[in-house]
Amino acid sequence: MKTLRLILGDQLNPEHSWFQRTEPNCIYALFEMRQETDYVRHHIQKVIGFFASMRAFADSLRKAGHQVIYYHINDPQNKQELHANIRQLIAQENIGRFEYLLPDEYRLDLQLKGICTSLELETGYADTEHFYTGRDELAIFFEGKKQFLMESFYRYMRKKHQVLMEGDQPEGGKWNYDQSNRKKWTGEPAIPNALVFENEVSEIVRDIERAGFETIGHWRGGYFPYPVNKEQALEQLEYFCRHLLPHFGDYQDALHTDQEFLFHSRLSFAMNTKILSPRTIVERVVDYYREHSEQIHISQVEGFVRQIIGWREYMRGIYWKEMPAYAQMNLLDNQQPLPDFYWTGNTKMKCLSTAITNSLDNAYAHHIQRLMITGNFALLAQIHPDAVDQWYLGIYIDAIEWVEITNTRGMSQYADGGIIATKPYVSSASYINKMGNYCKSCRYDRSKRTGENACPFNSLYWNFLDSKKDKLRNNRRMGMMYNLLSKIPETEMEEIRLRASKIIEDPDEF
Ligand SMILES: Cc1cc2nc3c(=O)[nH]c(=O)nc-3n(C[C@H](O)[C@H](O)[C@H](O)COP(=O)(O)OP(=O)(O)OC[C@H]3O[C@@H](n4cnc5c(N)ncnc54)[C@H](O)[C@@H]3O)c2cc1C
Ligand code: SF4
Repeated sequence: MKTLRLILGDQLNPEHSWFQRTEPNCIYALFEMRQETDYVRHHIQKVIGFFASMRAFADSLRKAGHQVIYYHINDPQNKQELHANIRQLIAQENIGRFEYLLPDEYRLDLQLKGICTSLELETGYADTEHFYTGRDELAIFFEGKKQFLMESFYRYMRKKHQVLMEGDQPEGGKWNYDQSNRKKWTGEPAIPNALVFENEVSEIVRDIERAGFETIGHWRGGYFPYPVNKEQALEQLEYFCRHLLPHFGDYQDALHTDQEFLFHSRLSFAMNTKILSPRTIVERVVDYYREHSEQIHISQVEGFVRQIIGWREYMRGIYWKEMPAYAQMNLLDNQQPLPDFYWTGNTKMKCLSTAITNSLDNAYAHHIQRLMITGNFALLAQIHPDAVDQWYLGIYIDAIEWVEITNTRGMSQYADGGIIATKPYVSSASYINKMGNYCKSCRYDRSKRTGENACPFNSLYWNFLDSKKDKLRNNRRMGMMYNLLSKIPETEMEEIRLRASKIIEDPDEF
């Protein structure tokens, strides 16, 4: 009996047990489909990256002796939709059994369950063997708890997987070096150029143009710079360890006009497509640290490990615990449309124009740009979380719903009312100025709350606290902010409200 095995575009795990031996009666299928290119408007580089990695993966499977059927986006037999393509192959290849890898997106999970119910043959599924945790592990860990603190989940993960541990105690005596991970970067230490790969993708670009679907962002020709196979991903990991890890933790939260990547790893694309596993990354980073412990402080390594075995696994767990209701949450009742400048970078606010231009140019922005610049503004300007989600889901090279929506709707927009973040991540200009140099070259005055030249973040910030009082005042972590708010004289508050309402009504004017 012949088996058809489906591999989705973010399931390119070369280590998977499926691929460890060739089976003559097994056919692997990969499809480039309009159902995937069109469910949101993606950044052009994101589509190029997915197609390039899928094509490279299919080639590597063929070279290893597996049978592969690959539908390119413009192939005439491509029905552009999962169900139709699977049905077609089942009939054409005389398939007796259909198998898939558990998808990470709720949408695809539902679709594949539906497809299996409708097929009149044996079906089965397997785990992707990528994550540290199973889909339900976080839900079990927090069972009966009212709060789902990332920190307690992270400590559980450190202990369970014995990462940076000495018995049951954290290596170095501390679980968390967050406090020392907050340096501003002012030109030193030097940041090496980002490692870029010269992946030739002109054929893919032609295919995308011919297919004619809409994309966002820029593609200036040339090469696709992110890793598209395991060898490149390992090279990127090695580069990170050698050149960036020594300062990763210190400058994790820094912002700078001239540095798009700072000391960040740019490994999210390779990880989210599953080309590289989080385990490989964490083990190599810890080993590298051990080999160089005289030059690298544990705080740099802990800061990195926390992102992967902490935040990344935590977001996946929350996603499976809270979906599908999570995608509808809007607990702060924000209703504004997304400003046009999110699609162009055309705004006088230097921090936003820099972060958005980086995103449009590279399909990348580092975490603090996403959280404290574009996310912060969207929340303060009271943008509807659906619009914010659509933007984040489209624009980033690493954006896949399970990790995008939890970060956007949860961590950044507080639309889940505090499932992920214990308080909204909002700030005025003072934080942005503390962490970077954007304000220095901005036309707005970061120290003013009112008046024509006042930084828009300032009036928006106080207006946000004021207008969301009913929903936020009882949050103990907001006590200090509400105390400061209460000290602003009512006459000034009136001016703040007026200026904020003008910005909210027409953000593209600012
Ligand atoms: C509003 C918003 C939206 C985001 N959307 C995405 C997304 O669609 N896809 C995505 O992978 N990450 C997302 N993140 C998390 C984070 O910003 C990116 O993972 C990171 O910027 C990727 O760049 P890097 O590989 O250089 O990361 P580094 O700074 O080098 O971090 C190393 C790795 O840690 C993991 N990581 C770090 N922070 C997080 C986090 N908060 N959640 C999950 N994993 C994390 C990533 O896998 C990342 O590759 C989002 C964050 C925010 C605030
Ligand atoms: S002054 Fe305000 S708008 Fe300008 S860069 Fe600073 S925070 Fe952004």
